[in-house]
Amino acid sequence: MVLADLGSKVALALRKMTQATVIDQTVMNEMLSEICKALLQADVNVAQVKHLREQVKRNVDVEALAGGLNKRKMLEQAVCNELCAMLDPGKEPYQPKKKQPNVIMFVGLQGCGKTTTCTKYAYMYKRKGFKCALVCADTFRAGAFDQLKQNATKAKIPFYGSYTETDPAQIAAEGVQKFKDEGYEIIIVDTSGRHMQEEALFEEMEQVAQLTQPDDVVFVMDSSIGQAAHEQATAFKSKVAVGSVIITKLDGHAKGGGALSAVAATGAPITNIGTGEHIEDFEEFEVKSFVSRMLG
Ligand code: GDP
Repeated sequence: MVLADLGSKVALALRKMTQATVIDQTVMNEMLSEICKALLQADVNVAQVKHLREQVKRNVDVEALAGGLNKRKMLEQAVCNELCAMLDPGKEPYQPKKKQPNVIMFVGLQGCGKTTTCTKYAYMYKRKGFKCALVCADTFRAGAFDQLKQNATKAKIPFYGSYTETDPAQIAAEGVQKFKDEGYEIIIVDTSGRHMQEEALFEEMEQVAQLTQPDDVVFVMDSSIGQAAHEQATAFKSKVAVGSVIITKLDGHAKGGGALSAVAATGAPITNIGTGEHIEDFEEFEVKSFVSRMLG
């Protein structure tokens, strides 16, 4: 069964409200109940959900407002503002610094777009004037190194990996050291994509983190995973210090509501979004346009 994305549910609740002839307390409460239910089902923190409800009620007193005012718009705006606030964990993302090595480790489920995102990230920083390099610590998926190699070559970014070494932590450590010695500023470590049930692979990820001591761990999440977002983000967060989140495949049909769960579960800010398969299809995260898209 495909579970509707949180963004779709919230958008539906707002649309239903728009169809009511008169916006009164009852209509507003129904709309808020549906939104809160959707948020809770997506495992967004209870306190945050309660806060959203209270804030909207406080900011838009539908009974007290004069008839001519556009209450629908005001309510939509109030919900939108609260969703924006939820996407801000109140923490600045790690900012790579010039003239020093910044080790950035990428983690995520298999197929989420991690390897593609590693190159996009490197390319973005390369254009900002950083000296970037890629390390493939994915020994699990056949062809992972070739894929990274191909992407990196296209983007003219140096890479490191091995066809023979089977210990990903070893490769990661060697690659990071090599690029540190060569004065690289952003050293990106791509790890194996995990399935949720593979405990051994999660342990392997911890070992890579221990040996490379990353300055930031980026959790890459496919926007179409819907309700599984919270469980996924929590599982990764429990093993490694997730500091940033990147949401991929926002060029598809997904509304990206899982982003709310990912931020709630990791306490980490979203830094970028992936909007296609190509290297340039990568944008800085902008909360207002993200929420409008989610509700659109
Ligand atoms: P990994 O297993 O997590 O490393 O995933 P890959 O980087 O191999 O990506 C899996 C598939 O998703 C590939 O076909 C990518 O081209 C595709 N992909 C990655 N990011 C995006 C995105 O933002 N939009 C779209 N449409 N496809 C993407």
